[in-house]
Amino acid sequence: MLRTPPDEALVAGRWRRGGGAATQTLDPATGAALATVHAVTPDEVSEAARAAARAAAEPQWYDLLPHQRARLLTRVATLIEDNAEHLAALQTADTGKALTETRALVASAAATFRYTAAALETAEEAITPSRGAYVTLSVHEPIGVVGAINPWNSPVASDAQKLAPALAAGNAVLLKPAEWTPLVSLALGRLITQALGELRLPTALLAVLPGSGRVVGDAIVRDPHVGRIAFTGGTETGRALARTAAEKLMPVSLELGGKSPTVVLADADIEQALAGVMFGVFSSSGQSCIAGSRLFVARALYDGFVGELVARVTKLRVGPGTRPDTQVAPLVHPAHRDKVAAYVDLARGEGARVLCGGAAPEGPEYADGAYYLPTVLDGLPNDARTCQEEIFGPVLVALPFDDEEDLVRQANDSVYGLACGIWTRDHRAAWRIARRVEAGTVWINTYKQFSASTPFGGMKASGLGREKGRDAIRAYQRQKSLYWGTATTPLPWAG
Ligand code: NDP
Repeated sequence: MLRTPPDEALVAGRWRRGGGAATQTLDPATGAALATVHAVTPDEVSEAARAAARAAAEPQWYDLLPHQRARLLTRVATLIEDNAEHLAALQTADTGKALTETRALVASAAATFRYTAAALETAEEAITPSRGAYVTLSVHEPIGVVGAINPWNSPVASDAQKLAPALAAGNAVLLKPAEWTPLVSLALGRLITQALGELRLPTALLAVLPGSGRVVGDAIVRDPHVGRIAFTGGTETGRALARTAAEKLMPVSLELGGKSPTVVLADADIEQALAGVMFGVFSSSGQSCIAGSRLFVARALYDGFVGELVARVTKLRVGPGTRPDTQVAPLVHPAHRDKVAAYVDLARGEGARVLCGGAAPEGPEYADGAYYLPTVLDGLPNDARTCQEEIFGPVLVALPFDDEEDLVRQANDSVYGLACGIWTRDHRAAWRIARRVEAGTVWINTYKQFSASTPFGGMKASGLGREKGRDAIRAYQRQKSLYWGTATTPLPWAG
């Protein structure tokens, strides 16, 4: 029996029912209501921000040395591991994702906290070369209160990617989960509150504030106590939020959308490429910012490769995320499934050939869920809307290319620049293409692999700033320079 968190938000260090509108979260596999969650109000956001600012300044927290703050992160990592099955089941119920995927996301959340604790303990400050009668130091200090705003596709992992470095840096955090999928963030909030309590730290260091982006997200961004925003979501939302942040001269990091090219060169290991292309776009039912949703295949290989791909895609197992053999689980919400279906209709209107999928699966077991069949399209030029816009569903569009110049031109002809995959045995070609494609991450003979120690982020309309890696903590701090005079005589000017 799934334990859903009680209908409460974490405001100013206390759990309570939000004073705003009630929303029902749905199990996308069945359409059944899972839980009711009341949003917080803008006044509650303001209350949480004020309490967070006070908590961030309390000596019990502010005066902790890095290795002492690291204890909080390692404790949270352990609590996530101890509750891994529950968190994975909750996320599968709320987002629809397959359990194999949500288990991996929970493990990655724990790893992020553990890695960040290690990075915090080993981070160094700099004594810069002195150019006068003084010692010069460059040090880093917390910003104060950070707003973390996440979408619905991978909540526990994207929460950890923001919370771990923001707390490690010495801040308090206001976390806003997506309205469709608040449950796992609320459960994670409970674990972090437990760790804060055990270590006798102020519980107002974390607020979890459910509600819509338009009301709660906007109130967080505008709040005068919030000094930095870490955002993952759509490009247009990111742009709007960055405009508000610019008024406050507040730093923002933006992890945004993508339309990532996956490239199969003529000499690729075909079995590896087929498996990698399918995993790259159809795992998480394509609801992944880094989905390899534009497939470029060398023209000599095109018909054979795409034909075999389609044969295998039609055999992918579509089903609920709780079934152990499911490969393609339902989409997050019926409204999102309809949006994906509308994109495939648009593709038809643009003249695409639907090679497989292109509809919801039939049968009573799919009738109430937000399912959509994995879909392969081709016959469109790269400038068609279907090839340019992010669909965020199980939809792959295939295109041929003639040579390396043609490939790089088409791959870069996109507003996005998040990721790229290259399948080839030619290490020189891999190197050249990897360096020429505008993408924040390039995978060569693999795809959609992640490591807490490797920075992640986008180029162009895919974002600004990086998450993960050693530098993630510094991104949540302010740099200060100190000059410490060593002369024994007065400064000469006054003499
Ligand atoms: P949205 O941009 O609509 O929403 C993302 C988050 O922002 C949600 O919590 C949302 O709230 C909130 N939000 C919406 N409007 C505002 C606002 N005016 N002010 C503050 N917050 C706001 O994205 P989607 O939910 O559609 O998520 C999918 C998008 O996320 C895709 O484009 C995908 O590519 C991107 N993404 C990027 C990743 C990356 O790392 N680069 C990773 C994963 C996803 P709510 O929806 O609850 O109202």
